[in-house]
Amino acid sequence: MRKKIVTANWKMNKSFTEADDLINEISELLAEKKESEALVIIAPPAVYLELAGDIASTEGEFEVSGQNIYQAESGAFTGEVSAMMLKSMNVDYCIIGHSERRKYFNESNDILKQKVDIAINNSIIPIYCCGEILPEREAGKHFEVIQKQLEEAVFHLDHDAFSNIIIAYEPVWAIGTGATATPEQAQEMHAFIRENIEKKLGKEVAGKTTILYGGSCNSKNASSLFSNPDVDGGLIGGASLVAEEFIKIVNSF
Ligand code: PEP
Repeated sequence: MRKKIVTANWKMNKSFTEADDLINEISELLAEKKESEALVIIAPPAVYLELAGDIASTEGEFEVSGQNIYQAESGAFTGEVSAMMLKSMNVDYCIIGHSERRKYFNESNDILKQKVDIAINNSIIPIYCCGEILPEREAGKHFEVIQKQLEEAVFHLDHDAFSNIIIAYEPVWAIGTGATATPEQAQEMHAFIRENIEKKLGKEVAGKTTILYGGSCNSKNASSLFSNPDVDGGLIGGASLVAEEFIKIVNSF
């Protein structure tokens, strides 16, 4: 059975005190009210990773993820954070290729491939995001776009390396817009992604790969999305910033 996962992407939100309160609140609610088997991963801004990691290690109800790493091992890259730094803080996951990074920081599939490799070399599990923009979907090019994003950034990985990554399908038109993909649209694309993984790496790897849906997922629509056979959980932005709402999503399986 592949893992069910719900990941919180806090993006660039919360002061230190607010982050401390939110992480404690989520942690307490997970201890009291978690009803699903889903693995919970929280991706706070990098400056709060230590805070989140300390709470995760004492309460143990969730794992911690970075939101980004730089595509070099170390060196003169002022302001950047490396995979080795995350690992040295016991962080085991990192979001790579979020559409906001692609759009605002010009991260190409080639750069993302380098980030994926560096993450894996440092034993960090990439949560690799792919997704089409609205004009691409309207032009019927969404499958082509996703296939290219996979081909150019993760399909070079061998069987063992690919067994250690998580894919997140995040249609860009659904992120932060309230325009969630329908359960049918999500299932159709997740099945397509899984078929492509199978063609490249075989049935076993395809069957084991967790594929998350992201894009205006909330407590009202999560169960209809998660009930699809190829939707293994969610990458949650806005709705992960309110503890009660986030726990309802975690319990939506
Ligand atoms: C995201 O940023 O990954 C995301 C899915 O955001 P939202 O849930 O706010 O659409």
